[in-house]
Amino acid sequence: MTTTPTIDSLRTVCEGRVHLPGDPGYDAARLAWNLLVDQRPAAVAVPHTVDEVADVVRAAAAAGLRVAPQSTGHAAAPLNESDLSGVVIVRLSELTGVSIDPEAGTARVVGGTLWADVVAAAAPYGRTAMHGSAGDVSVIGYLLGGGLSFYGRRHGVAANSVRAVEVVTADGSLVRASATEHPDLFWALRGGGGNLGVVVAMEIELLPYAEVFAGMLLWDRERSPEVVRAWAAWTREVPDSVTTSLRLMSFPPLPDLPPFLSGRQIVVIDGAVLEDDDRAAELLAPLRALAPEMDTFGRIPSTGLVAVHMDPPAPVPSVGQHLVVGELTEDAVVALLGEAGPGSTTSLMFAELRHLGGALAHPVEGGGVLTSVAGDYALLGVAMAPFPEAAAQGRADAAALCAAMAPYATGTHVLTFCETRGDLATVYGEGWERLRAVRAEVDPDGVFLANHTIA
Ligand SMILES: Cc1cc2nc3c(=O)[nH]c(=O)nc-3n(C[C@H](O)[C@H](O)[C@H](O)COP(=O)(O)OP(=O)(O)OC[C@H]3O[C@@H](n4cnc5c(N)ncnc54)[C@H](O)[C@@H]3O)c2cc1C
Repeated sequence: MTTTPTIDSLRTVCEGRVHLPGDPGYDAARLAWNLLVDQRPAAVAVPHTVDEVADVVRAAAAAGLRVAPQSTGHAAAPLNESDLSGVVIVRLSELTGVSIDPEAGTARVVGGTLWADVVAAAAPYGRTAMHGSAGDVSVIGYLLGGGLSFYGRRHGVAANSVRAVEVVTADGSLVRASATEHPDLFWALRGGGGNLGVVVAMEIELLPYAEVFAGMLLWDRERSPEVVRAWAAWTREVPDSVTTSLRLMSFPPLPDLPPFLSGRQIVVIDGAVLEDDDRAAELLAPLRALAPEMDTFGRIPSTGLVAVHMDPPAPVPSVGQHLVVGELTEDAVVALLGEAGPGSTTSLMFAELRHLGGALAHPVEGGGVLTSVAGDYALLGVAMAPFPEAAAQGRADAAALCAAMAPYATGTHVLTFCETRGDLATVYGEGWERLRAVRAEVDPDGVFLANHTIA
């Protein structure tokens, strides 16, 4: 007579680095970067090798448990919308590493490696990569969701830079997917999130920038009516070499914050201009003519671009909501300012617009399921939520921002900005049915649970 393995069988894998509820290491291991997310899975496994990843997947599946890959937990909120009591989180934070091939201009990035580490490793070779605004987001979690970079309007969706993916699939085998190996799986992995397996490595193409013209412009929020209107007009005209974001921001008076932020309400434009200094200055002139209180734009080592957006340097509790909008008409600007402009009492720490278009809008021949992004701007409202009432207020204010901007929405979404689960057909568009078919083929029993689930 055979018996079905129980969850205790997991204790035999990962040399004991599997933490079950009640174990001393469980609470530390289940912590997500978003500290608001109180995820309570059946177990958290922390593999150090690819073989250990495969062992966890096989042991979990044999015990009737599902597997949720997680690197940092930046995007843990949608995952936690599922009941995790039958789910093993595979935390990739201790399976990391990056190696650069200077001849090929590529990097091989392992498991849960962070963008900051890849950017630092590429810098000695005069190169950088299609990272996002924060250095502590994982490379693989971001690229599996597409990825919006300050290099995006020139170089497109970051997932287009992926050349090969090594993934542990539902039966525990290690599969390499590329343009010539398992091409359907390769297509699906470039945007299909953690639905297809635990990704243990990716090969990515690097960018040839040792330095970049980048920085931020800052005004008091009282100036936001003219600044937002100027940015709306400017972003209609700038070439693809310019990728920027505009944020209406509010900071509480905190001693840890620099004085230009503490207790302030401000409007900030930041990003990168991939031009020589003279041309960059010429392009920025209309914004600089508005006499910003701070102007840090200049040529910096490309390693510095992960700091320009001033994302939190450590885990925080936050809530947010997102949609994509089309042209910023006068009505759309008025709606935005009504929610987050002068006099607003919103609890949002920021209401942000990221400029899309340019190469981001163009599907790439041989690209993956998320090879382009439709729409002109990605809107994001985020509030800090250190206690439950703040979370409730933040959700309400983020929802109010999105409701006010809904008349200008395109109906599409950027997967990496989705803080809650939604209608994934609006993210994937034409690729949705093919993606579901690939998922059904590689994971017929639904072993893997991603934060955004393809079923
Ligand atoms: C402060 C901040 C700044 C950000 N800036 C940007 C930005 O500029 N541009 C942008 O596009 N996005 C940005 N994001 C969003 C970010 O890219 C997504 O949240 C991304 O999914 C985070 O990946 P992660 O692995 O770090 O997070 P996690 O929560 O660990 O992972 C998210 C999901 O990715 C999948 N996943 C992660 N690792 C693996 C793996 N090894 N194998 C299989 N599946 C895996 C899983 O399904 C997981 O649920 C930002 C988020 C924050 C909080």
